[in-house]
Amino acid sequence: MEHTHRFRTFAENEFGYLGMCASCRTINVAFQNSLFCLTLDQFEAFAEMMHNRLSMRPINTPHGKELMLATPMPNYFLLFSDEDLTRLCALLSEAAPILEAERILTVSHRLN
Ligand SMILES: [Zn+2]
Repeated sequence: MEHTHRFRTFAENEFGYLGMCASCRTINVAFQNSLFCLTLDQFEAFAEMMHNRLSMRPINTPHGKELMLATPMPNYFLLFSDEDLTRLCALLSEAAPILEAERILTVSHRLN
């Protein structure tokens, strides 16, 4: 990724931000120390997964991080508390209408 990433921010809070690289159109969802890099098409599935806690396994510890999400790395998992997911979903919801507009623009570009 050698190109210059002109970055447009669509949402941010004290835990992360959500935006898009204007050059390669990759959506960056930064939350705590994780960075999810998504296409416009992948974003909707990602948001649905986070909103509905899909693919997450309950993990019972006394530490409050109660949901575990597998990653492609076999020994690495993401842990979320319900509060974490509320904060992440706030970013996703705030940016969703802008991303929907981006998707419509992309489709109309393809049609023209
Ligand atoms: Zn880029």
